[in-house]
Amino acid sequence: MSVAKQLYQLQELDLELESNEQALKQTASQLGESEAVVAARNKLASERQRLDELVRQQRATELEIDDLIIKLRTAEAELYSGKIHNPKELTNLQHDIENQKEKRGQLEDKVLEIMDQVEQATESVTNMNSGLKVMESEWQSQQKQLYAHLEQLKTVISNFKEKRQSLITEIDSQVIEIYDELKKQKRTAVAKVEQGICRGCRISLSVSELQQTRSGSLVRCSSCGRILFLA
Ligand SMILES: [Zn+2]
Repeated sequence: MSVAKQLYQLQELDLELESNEQALKQTASQLGESEAVVAARNKLASERQRLDELVRQQRATELEIDDLIIKLRTAEAELYSGKIHNPKELTNLQHDIENQKEKRGQLEDKVLEIMDQVEQATESVTNMNSGLKVMESEWQSQQKQLYAHLEQLKTVISNFKEKRQSLITEIDSQVIEIYDELKKQKRTAVAKVEQGICRGCRISLSVSELQQTRSGSLVRCSSCGRILFLA
């Protein structure tokens, strides 16, 4: 096999390696926490917090009502006990009772309102929770696929690397140096020759360049410097 052909094979390997390594990088970047899942988890946590606060408010208001009911009972018992004869005192007591009844009504309205909110928040926590579970399971299966893909790519890459290693041992190290330098400069170090044209720079080659290339010796394009390979 001519050196040019070996180098062309090396280049094919390198291009495959490059594209697989890029795919590996891209796949690896998709691994890990999903922003959407994290956001949904945070949203659920704050909705749960809101629900807890509402339940706490409901209990506190219910306790307030219980207290008022006891106070009202005491006041009403006093009013009907017949022990109070002072008209002003009686009027004051009746006033107090009226005020407490009004307050009780307000608190009862407040409890109903809170219970409504509790119901809504409970429903939204339930919905968010099941939505999150779906998201998490989708994310998990996606992660599993990504891991499998990643492992596949690693195997492919290591196979290419092995092939590259064995190919390189067959080529003169100085030639490899030229190849590496050209690759760094131009991305592709080897250019195919087709219809007398260097495919690297699309310029026609001279007759002597073509002859040398045909003979299998290492020839570089006089225009772009790439190693010429005649298929
Ligand atoms: Zn060229």
